[in-house]
Amino acid sequence: MNRPTAPRDWAALAAACQPDGRLLIDGERRSAAAGDTFACISPIDGRTIAQVARGQATDIDAAVRSARRAFDDGRWAHKPPAVRKKVLLRFAEKILAAKDELALLETLDMGKPIQHSLGVDVPSAARCIAWYAEAVDKVYDEIAPTARSALALITREPMGVIGAVVPWNYPMIMSAWKLGPALATGNSVVLKPSEKSPLTALRLAELAIEAGLPEGVFNVVTGYGHEAGEALALHMDVDAIGFTGSTRVGRKMLEYAGRSNLKRVYNELGGKSAFVVFDDFNDIARAASTVAGSMFFNQGESCNAPSRVLVQDRVADEFIAAVTAEVPKYQPGDPLTGSAPMGALVDDGQLRTVLGYIDAGHTEGARLVAGGRQVRGDSGGYFVEPTVFDGVTNQMRIAREEIFGPVMSVIRFKTEAEAIAIANDSPYGLQASVWSHQIDRAHRTARALRAGTVHVNQYDEDDITVPFGGFKQSGNGRDKSLHAFDKYTELKTTWIRID
Ligand code: NAD
Repeated sequence: MNRPTAPRDWAALAAACQPDGRLLIDGERRSAAAGDTFACISPIDGRTIAQVARGQATDIDAAVRSARRAFDDGRWAHKPPAVRKKVLLRFAEKILAAKDELALLETLDMGKPIQHSLGVDVPSAARCIAWYAEAVDKVYDEIAPTARSALALITREPMGVIGAVVPWNYPMIMSAWKLGPALATGNSVVLKPSEKSPLTALRLAELAIEAGLPEGVFNVVTGYGHEAGEALALHMDVDAIGFTGSTRVGRKMLEYAGRSNLKRVYNELGGKSAFVVFDDFNDIARAASTVAGSMFFNQGESCNAPSRVLVQDRVADEFIAAVTAEVPKYQPGDPLTGSAPMGALVDDGQLRTVLGYIDAGHTEGARLVAGGRQVRGDSGGYFVEPTVFDGVTNQMRIAREEIFGPVMSVIRFKTEAEAIAIANDSPYGLQASVWSHQIDRAHRTARALRAGTVHVNQYDEDDITVPFGGFKQSGNGRDKSLHAFDKYTELKTTWIRID
């Protein structure tokens, strides 16, 4: 589905770009009821790209009412799955057809390199929508093995109105992970994108409507988390929240549900994933290049970034040399050139957070072996070098807390038991990786690691067909795969007496 792109003058296209920052409710663009906006600033150069509607409780209420009307009258929910499939496949095609525009908006809005927006974000979002479209008319319900005197049908029904609240690191992909399964199963959605990256969500909704999605089924309310996000999560007529974001806000989502209508809350939260390299692994250079690629991709702003690297003593010096040699390949550059391996951090606040953690690493006694500085300050944007600390202990803040920037912490260990204990000593449990050629050790460790996904001798594999989500404070529920249907459907049992 990923079609080749002709070379583009992205800087010129960026200069001419004038995004529409109004809300999309009930099939139409409109300003926030109070008329307020906020400035959407590009982290590439600090330029204001658009004024975006600052949606608040009144706007959320309008969007939820529109979604509820659409759900209740069955304009989407009652359509046969094969019809929903057709519309969503058209939606996926429209995403691909608009790939240049969407990629540019994504890069301008959150700072990632344009070739990544084009080659990863746009096609992944389209594939996700298409995959759920294709799946939904192939899933059957069940009949329970009961006595002959009755029939028990176990069916799945759409939940109703879904509030989707998503972060800024992969704005389109995170939206698609909610939209795909929620829309395919017949729900209506109110999407609240991050205030740091609101632009592509608005275009996605327009494209969905162009593809034939009935009005009111997919609404977008932009705005701040503590205003629009909170109002959505507290709304009495929202049936479920599909949330991706920080563990701090995930906690609030559970509180909001408790304070309102006990809506279902599916949290996909932060991570501090352990990457464990044993000394029997015979290609340390490959382990080092893999961890650098995964850690520094997306400026380190990935929930599953392998930010805690555990290396067995005997190969630790070799590993540090190898990973340090990788670092120059990830120096940040202008995200619009098409060749920068790393772009800008999302905003000034994130820049200060990351630099603060680098300071904490120094203060707590870790040894900086690469990077550590802000760069490209003249651009007006927010760029930090790929950074590696050696001699980290698992009690340091840079090992315990999610930095969400290009900072890798290397922790040395002696035994397998120690490695497992350190890896599991974290409030998070999103992903982990084990590097060993000993089959028993690889399996044993993979089983012992408390994480939603464990990789063995790799870290890059990913596919819409597999579930994504975490143990512990990395969340509950799973995005992607057929398991995501569980989040957006209610299970119903219907007993029928047979005389
Ligand atoms: P965040 O929690 O600050 O914000 C996420 C979303 O929640 C945004 O739309 C924001 O506006 C909204 N929000 C903020 N405060 C709110 C409130 N009080 N009430 C309601 N909504 C509120 O997270 P972020 O900084 O946007 O994203 C980074 C986080 O997302 C990281 O922790 C990262 O690990 C996590 N993440 C997790 C996954 C996953 O699948 N597990 C994927 C991507 C990102």
